Amino acid sequence: MMLRGTWSRAARSLLAPSASDCLICGKKSGASSELPGVCKSCQTSIPWIRKPRCPKCGRHVGCPDCSRSSDPVPIVCNRSAVAYTSEMREVLGQYKYRGNERLAPILGLMLDQAYTILQSERGRTPREGSSQQQHPLIPVFKSNRTSLWQADLLVPVPVSDSRLAERGFNQAERLADVLSRRRGIPQLPLLVRTHHTGKQSFKSRSERLADMKHAFAANPDPVIRSQFADWLESSRQKMQSQPVQIIIIDDIYTTGSTIRACAETITLLASSLGWTAEIYSLTWARS
Ligand SMILES: [Zn+2]
Ligand SMILES: [Zn+2]
Repeated sequence: MMLRGTWSRAARSLLAPSASDCLICGKKSGASSELPGVCKSCQTSIPWIRKPRCPKCGRHVGCPDCSRSSDPVPIVCNRSAVAYTSEMREVLGQYKYRGNERLAPILGLMLDQAYTILQSERGRTPREGSSQQQHPLIPVFKSNRTSLWQADLLVPVPVSDSRLAERGFNQAERLADVLSRRRGIPQLPLLVRTHHTGKQSFKSRSERLADMKHAFAANPDPVIRSQFADWLESSRQKMQSQPVQIIIIDDIYTTGSTIRACAETITLLASSLGWTAEIYSLTWARS
């Protein structure tokens, strides 16, 4: 009787989740206005990165990695929505490893905050790599639709087939979906993972870097390839000047090795089609 009651309660909550159950802490409390489904207390404790301290990787604390390395970085910059605190690790764990897909819209909405920050930063600077002479005080407007900087394309970091089978969804793609819908920026799965790299969290920095070198390749799917080529062609009119500005989307930025490897692959892919790509990354958390 007891068991049955528990079961039917569990089934009911699955079928019709109560609007007042916070998606993060699970408690019943007043909903926040900013993040639907998240309670006020969880919302106020989110460690937002509003002013990144490292202009390159978007880290909220002093950054030895970016200042130490003299390697050319294939991205303009990374921006992350939140600092990867133990609370945020718990949230990501629920989403990614325990497959709580209901968190995708919330995390996507949080990622959208990082896009707003990137947008306001880019709005003040002329496009990098532009050959035209520009007056420093005249903002460079990307499209006629909006006066703010806007990226051209989103590319989610892919997961391996085995990971996808195990998890049922690509967590980065779901985040990109939210941003794509909110901002009207197309997304294309331009990349595939060539081998399973294992749990990165158990590896040292140098091991991760070596591991990632050949972890990604251009998506061999002819449909995706021709969609990308067609999209570039159709964008030629709209984009007064190259390069095409692409944002790589992922859930977390740790050493940046994943993003770097993805950026290098996209750069090669774009150049094989005669385009220069300017690459950014947006990640939900920065560790
Ligand atoms: Zn809560
Ligand atoms: Zn940095």
